[in-house]
Amino acid sequence: MLAVFFDIDNCLYSASSSISQLMMKRIRTYFIELGHTEEEAERLHSAYYRQYGLAIRGLVKHHEIDPMDFNERCDASLPLEDLLKPDPAIRQLLMDIDRSKVKVWAATNAYISHAERVLKILNLRDLIEDIVFCDYQDPAFTCKPEPEYYEMAMTKIGLSPDDPADRAKCFFIDDSLSNVRAAKTIGWGSCVWFREQLSPEARAHLVSGDEAATQSALRAPSGSYAEQLKQSLEAGDGAETEGVDAVISNLHQLRNIWPQIFKDPSNSNTTEREPKEG
Ligand SMILES: [Mg+2]
Repeated sequence: MLAVFFDIDNCLYSASSSISQLMMKRIRTYFIELGHTEEEAERLHSAYYRQYGLAIRGLVKHHEIDPMDFNERCDASLPLEDLLKPDPAIRQLLMDIDRSKVKVWAATNAYISHAERVLKILNLRDLIEDIVFCDYQDPAFTCKPEPEYYEMAMTKIGLSPDDPADRAKCFFIDDSLSNVRAAKTIGWGSCVWFREQLSPEARAHLVSGDEAATQSALRAPSGSYAEQLKQSLEAGDGAETEGVDAVISNLHQLRNIWPQIFKDPSNSNTTEREPKEG
């Protein structure tokens, strides 16, 4: 049995939804309401993202915040129902995975309530067997790209993190390059970086979307959350593919990258959606 782990945010839906920008704004506001200036908020957010993989880790560690309060005020307050809609082609893609050979899970750095909500809106929840998430209720919760997160995922799905053969059975796709590299480093079998290529219109919308906040965030220091977002939004020349098995710009390319997880491709009704080359 193979295990396929899909990241959720900016992976199962397009970054053009602007959800990341809204999230970024809420996190900055959260810092400011803790008593920090706007500049400190920006600096701390970037620093924690760079150091811990997500802001909440730093907030719990250094500011003793209540993670569930953070979840309420950041993730849960997002108007996801207005921003996301199901994509029948993505649903078909997941339906075409051969469930007799493959377990299909989601692996997110969000809390379970956000993950469930997004999957439900996208009309994908019934196609995802279970969700690996950041358990904000556990003071010692782990997140991507920490090795412990991937080991937790394996244990949850019934594989042994200590067994290299089991590690090789894990396939993974994420829009965060560092998350993908971390999975590869611990020996997961196939690790794919989803680097979306947005249309010029979508990019323009995203960058102009409101928000001086977006503009300033996109100028943030390298390695920050905003930098990763920017990196994943920009079409590149494929130079950063070191440490990953493949880079795709369209989830339908998985049919070519992972043919072994799909039912007989000749039966697929979405083969006309041949992706552009990344
Ligand atoms: Mg993501």
